[in-house]
Amino acid sequence: MAQEKPQRKKIESTGQMMKIMSDYFYDLNDAAKTDQRKVAWCTSVGPAELLRAMGFAVHFPENHAAMLGATRMATELIPEANSIGYSPDICSYLTADIGAYLKGVSPLAKAYPGIEAPPKPDVLVFNTNQCRDVQDWFAWYARELNVPCIGITSPKNFTDINEGLVDDVSRQLEALIPTLEEIAGQPLDLHKLQETVALSRECTELWRQVLETAMAAPAPLTFFDATIHMGPAVVLRGTKQAVDYYQQLLAELQGRIDNGIGAVEGEQYRIYWEGMPVWGRLRQHSELFAKLQTSVLVSTYCSSWIFPDFDPAEPLRSMARAYLGLFIVRSDDYKETYIKQMLEKFKIDGIIYHDAKTCPCNSNSRYGMPQRLEQETGIPSLVLSGDLNDLRCVSDEQTLTNVEAFIEQLEERKHHA
Ligand code: SF4
Repeated sequence: MAQEKPQRKKIESTGQMMKIMSDYFYDLNDAAKTDQRKVAWCTSVGPAELLRAMGFAVHFPENHAAMLGATRMATELIPEANSIGYSPDICSYLTADIGAYLKGVSPLAKAYPGIEAPPKPDVLVFNTNQCRDVQDWFAWYARELNVPCIGITSPKNFTDINEGLVDDVSRQLEALIPTLEEIAGQPLDLHKLQETVALSRECTELWRQVLETAMAAPAPLTFFDATIHMGPAVVLRGTKQAVDYYQQLLAELQGRIDNGIGAVEGEQYRIYWEGMPVWGRLRQHSELFAKLQTSVLVSTYCSSWIFPDFDPAEPLRSMARAYLGLFIVRSDDYKETYIKQMLEKFKIDGIIYHDAKTCPCNSNSRYGMPQRLEQETGIPSLVLSGDLNDLRCVSDEQTLTNVEAFIEQLEERKHHA
């Protein structure tokens, strides 16, 4: 079954993605250096639309932390944050990012000559929809750099979004505006906010279509590709560049479907990935599954940047609704219904849950979900222990043994079907 040499198809649009990401980082760097625009740091599903509409250059520390993971710098930096009291058990994005600051290093310096580090913030803006760690993370920088830290404390663990929840988050969003106006030195332009929300809506819709190309068999892109190509959806949401990029990527993937080209040659098995990627093992994992003729083709993680609720006619309220719609904020009932729909839609043979040691919020294997879903759908699952950034929590041997055994199980199941 296993192929000697993993056959993975390269995405041609990658060059264009790297260019717009590079433009984004240089623009951020210029904003901070020339002081022409104020800089806001924002959590990944924080109010980026509001910040962009007010003219802030927006930096996303989670993106920087993921780069620390992908470049395998994180593991050595985490102890720096541990030494000032931030536990090895808490978010390894937080500990890697603070560790990098304390050490004065950044992957940006290597990738983008002339940039030394992330830009210094004028304001830090969080949304706790994903976890409390983001607030603690930003609070540390607020103390260290003496800058204001404001944000949204989100409701959590609900199944349905009701008007009361939307009222709550909308009011919190409105309450941020006077402080942001003061820091930006200009009033919020409602028309600009509507334009930004419209661009976010367009970006999100295209990103959905990109991910849904993987419904085709063979799938034209994998989860490992998507973790890289989601960059613009994360850091350039609300801009024209992101929209243009996803139009290009979508056209390339549709071309692959038309020609029957899969991301993994000879695709035999189709896997759903639940949880975060192991950033420092993206290539190894991608090669491992390709060798086993297995497409890990859809994930909760990459799909989390689909926000169908954005509506320029009702910008603030629709932002509140979109941020509340995030998978990670919802109850297990909602999550299980969602995953079941995805399994059917993408014709999935098996589920892999990544139990990330330092991110309980993004690890859904700890409260019986794999057992419940397996019982209801009959689709087998595997739990892989690991972490998003701390490679000391990752065992390559165990991953290899467990994944190979799991694919063998799928093979047997197929033959007995
Ligand atoms: S969701 Fe997980 S990885 Fe993301 S900031 Fe929170 S703890 Fe860290």
